[in-house]
This record gives sequence, structure tokens and C-alpha cells, in this order.
Amino acid sequence: MRLIFLGPPGAGKGTQAQRIESFLNIKQLSTGDMLRAAVAAKTPVGLVAQDIMARGDLVPDEVVVGIIADRIDEADCANGFILDGFPRNVAQAEALNVMLDEKGLTLDGVIELKVNSEILIGRILKRAEESAGGPREDDTQEALTHRLRVYEEQTAPVSAYYAGKGVLKEVDGMQEIDQVTEAIKATLGVN
Ligand code: ADP
Repeated sequence: MRLIFLGPPGAGKGTQAQRIESFLNIKQLSTGDMLRAAVAAKTPVGLVAQDIMARGDLVPDEVVVGIIADRIDEADCANGFILDGFPRNVAQAEALNVMLDEKGLTLDGVIELKVNSEILIGRILKRAEESAGGPREDDTQEALTHRLRVYEEQTAPVSAYYAGKGVLKEVDGMQEIDQVTEAIKATLGVN
């Protein structure tokens, strides 16, 4: 299965993607994780991404589109994948369409985790406090507020884009973690 998980920062995409990854034996592909690894390793992509990510802006489309295009060709994606954090604007969604067409692949579903914005800020600040390796550079109040605005302006239209294609499925992300997982499985018809 090839899936996209949409939702604002703190919606629980990563947590749920990890669970569905092992349940369906498909690969979670988090552009945020890949970019943080590139920053830590000081690769050319990491050097471009570092300051952009720290302030909560989006890394240039061609960078993330290139990363995803290469990554989904890897053997561990043959059984499918979950895109977590990509596409993050309509241009990326259109680039993904072209990319999948060229590779002869189709999407099986787009899941949007719905969470109220007041809950998101609390969740992320808690995650920052509890994070073992110290808080992420972009989990400060200022960067977080900016990330949420970038989400509203650039990523929320991606939901409308997939809704227009009739492939968007909404799941209530404010339930208990296990209940959210069950709701996703039910939506995908895999439980
Ligand atoms: P969150 O889900 O909390 O927003 P992520 O780990 O998904 O965090 O992303 C962290 C940062 O990585 C983003 O704020 C952005 O700078 C960068 N990033 C991740 N995915 C993309 C993408 N598809 N396009 C552009 N930038 C991205």
C-alpha cells in the first residue's frame, strides 16, 4: 500500500505512521527525519536545510521532491510506503503525482489526522520537554507558532487538493493513540 499521512505538527502522524508501518509491513518515510539526519551529518542538503528548518520554514521543493523520488526507488519500499510530512504544499503534491506516474505507481489513500490547534501547541511543547536528546531546534514557542502558520497557509490546501480528487479520508486525531490507530486501519479496510 502507498499512503500519505497529512496533519499539522503534533497531530501524531509520526506515531501513527510507525504503527501502520509495522502492521502493514510498509516503510514510513518522514521527510522531517530524513532532513534532520542530513543536518546532523552536515551533507550538502543538510547545510541548505539547517537554518530554514530551525525557523520553521519549508525547505525548497526541489530538495524534498528529489529526496522522496530517490527514496521510494529503494528495495525496502517495494511493498509500499507511508509519506509522513510530504507533500507539504500543492506544488509538492503535483510533483508527487508526476513522479508516481513516471514510476507507474498509484496512491492507495490519503489520511488526514484532525486535531484542534490549541491541543497541538500543548502536545509539541510537552514533546520538547520529554525529548531524550534535548528539544528539537524548531520546538521553541516562536518556531512552533511559525510552523503552524506555514501549515495553515501552505499545507492545509494539500488536504483540499486530495479531497478534490476524492481520495482524502479524515480521522479524528484527538482520540487515544490506540483508538486513532484502529480508526486508521478501519478507514483503510485493513483491520
Ligand atoms: P512537524 O511534523 O512537527 O512539522 P517534521 O519533522 O515533519 O515536523 O518537519 C520539520 C521541518 O522539516 C519542517 O518545519 C520543514 O522545515 C522541514 N520539512 C519537512 N518536510 C518537508 C517538506 N515536505 N517540504 C519542505 N520542508 C520540509
